[in-house]
Amino acid sequence: MSRDAPVIPHTAEMPAPAIAAPPAEQLSTFDAVNYQLDRAARLLGLSAETQVGLKTPFREVMVELPLRRDDGTVRTYHGYRVQHDNSRGPMKGGLRYHPSVQLDEVRALASLMTWKTAVVDIPFGGAKGGIDCDPAELSPRELEHLTRLFVSRLHRLIGADEDIPAPDVNTNAQVMAWIVDEYAKYHGFTPGVVTGKPLQLGGSAGRLSATGRGVAVIAERALADAGGALRGATVAVQGFGNVGSWAAHSLAALGARVVAVSDVRGGVHRRDGLDVDALMRGAAQTGRLDGEGLERLTNDELLALDVDVLVPAALEDAIRADNADAVRARLVVEGANAPVTPAADARLEARGVTVVPDILANAGGVTVSYFEWVQNTQRYRWSAARVDEELVRTLSAAYDDVRSAAREFGVPLRVGAFVLAMRRVAEATTLRGG
Ligand code: NAD
Repeated sequence: MSRDAPVIPHTAEMPAPAIAAPPAEQLSTFDAVNYQLDRAARLLGLSAETQVGLKTPFREVMVELPLRRDDGTVRTYHGYRVQHDNSRGPMKGGLRYHPSVQLDEVRALASLMTWKTAVVDIPFGGAKGGIDCDPAELSPRELEHLTRLFVSRLHRLIGADEDIPAPDVNTNAQVMAWIVDEYAKYHGFTPGVVTGKPLQLGGSAGRLSATGRGVAVIAERALADAGGALRGATVAVQGFGNVGSWAAHSLAALGARVVAVSDVRGGVHRRDGLDVDALMRGAAQTGRLDGEGLERLTNDELLALDVDVLVPAALEDAIRADNADAVRARLVVEGANAPVTPAADARLEARGVTVVPDILANAGGVTVSYFEWVQNTQRYRWSAARVDEELVRTLSAAYDDVRSAAREFGVPLRVGAFVLAMRRVAEATTLRGG
């Protein structure tokens, strides 16, 4: 971590951090989020005390997870849950299974969830969790056991009115189903303890595709603002998991030409446009991106394609100071969380590239998670049409609010989104007093 990065004070007595300008590269992910918060807090004139309060997580937990492998050996993993803020409601955020999961990353992603739920104005705070495992190395039994072990360690701290996990990288509806079952052993059947569940266990229509659908809705609005149109626009998508594949599908459904998609191994490219649904079927069957007559390309090549819209939908730090100048897209829509570093952001901004920030662009997932939670609370299932209608309404309102905040202060959309979110969270905190 760079020493001139904003340092995060953990006590109110310490001064508010200075803003590094230009943003140093190599910020930790949490420092990078706080860099954005510093910019927004300064515009809002928030006191140093308020800033510290808004940045500091409410609770951080790390648990030991000794997993007995199928071969009889024991391997110890680490599970994390960071609960960042609950001033606007129960905390909400995904659960990631990835070897690189560590506390700083989880803390950053938890903070982003606080700001994301505030941007779309749903009554939740922010949290995030994860386990430092590689699910590709685990058998289904091992994965289930590890998940249950995690819940057995954490069940007192999560709950439908406390903290509600959801799928993230390498977790899915099946993992959520195991959590529902394990949690029920301690607290009784409580489907609202997680979202992104299978439909049979109280999941919502439209949740699986929600984040990607939201990326497309927001991309359409941003292109229209730039005087363009999604119909006929060329798009490249990095990452072909839940977010990337459904973003590509939804963008194509709105008339965009998706010319390239990729996963961790690289991608496929076709100038005339890809058959996204065929690629999704293939990936579901084989786990690979393949198709006849498709050109292969690397992730670096994909990020540098001359397209109208680039959607980084894999992991953090995909676009950095060292590759930002290679980006030729006019619009970058962040499907992933924190895929553009602050240094890259500054470079893109200087070149007139519009970046739609994660806390707006990928908020469709948490929005439909909220609808799922509402349905669980109501014991009443909504139609797919109602979910989609309310999703589009919520995201469109959030886009309008972010754009207004950005225009009010004459700043890029990312800063506008943080201004909007910090204002909402700070107001709730003040109203609650204490
Ligand atoms: P996923 O596990 O379903 O898919 C991840 C994809 O990224 C896979 O295709 C994988 O091969 C690819 N990938 C991994 N490392 C890569 C690399 N180094 N280069 C290129 N591709 C790589 O995960 P997901 O749920 O789609 O999440 C993707 C991103 O979106 C994450 O940042 C996540 O936090 C964010 N997000 C997810 C949701 C959700 O609802 N799932 C909601 C909001 C934000």
